[in-house]
Amino acid sequence: METALGRVIDAIAFAAHAHRQQKRKDPDGTPYINHPIALVRILSVEAGVQDVDVLCAAALHDYLEDCCGGKDQPSLEKGRNELAQRFGPVVLSLVEAVTDDKTLPKEERKRLQIEHAAHIPEGAKLVKLADKIANLRDIARTPPADWEVDRKHKYFDWASQVVARLRGTHAALEAKFDEALAARPG
Ligand code: NDP
Ligand code: ZN
Repeated sequence: METALGRVIDAIAFAAHAHRQQKRKDPDGTPYINHPIALVRILSVEAGVQDVDVLCAAALHDYLEDCCGGKDQPSLEKGRNELAQRFGPVVLSLVEAVTDDKTLPKEERKRLQIEHAAHIPEGAKLVKLADKIANLRDIARTPPADWEVDRKHKYFDWASQVVARLRGTHAALEAKFDEALAARPG
């Protein structure tokens, strides 16, 4: 029998397998899956979000971007089909809404995140808020080893521009973001 909890655990297990060879950029090379789990935790434990499609999308939010379409990876089309088949069309649409187009230059991708943020589905806005909270916390506590303070500041500034377009979505999450923003590295 498929329960709500079972669906979320399945999404985490699927993401854990898909990201199994990837690490975060912190000096310890933390397993990548800790980041999607952090998003699920921020949404469910910290913000009380109960929408199972949103929690599954949080677990899977970096799957298409980081596990599909690259060398020795399934194609993006195969990845999309896999998500739709296993987790349904709503989860697929949420994950697609938070997936960057990796064929574009990085600066352009950053600009498009700001431009698109206001126009994505509500559930995708929740995932994006949690993603930015998690990444600001990571940069404050366990940043990539080679980032000077200026680069950290640029990330904080860009994240707050994205989140400015997401305001009015979820007050508690926005307050968590503001808390993370206030811990700006000195
Ligand atoms: P990003 O600035 O995009 O790197 C941050 C991303 O890395 C996060 O969004 C997160 O993505 C992921 N990540 C993994 N581990 C960590 C961690 N421990 N802490 C925080 N984030 C983590 O880096 P890019 O290399 O993609 O560079 C993009 C931009 O930075 C470009 O616009 C480029 O011009 C600029 N740049 C600036 C420099 C400077 O200011 N000195 C130097 C070089 C580049 P996710 O949630 O997807 O995992
Ligand atoms: Zn992420």
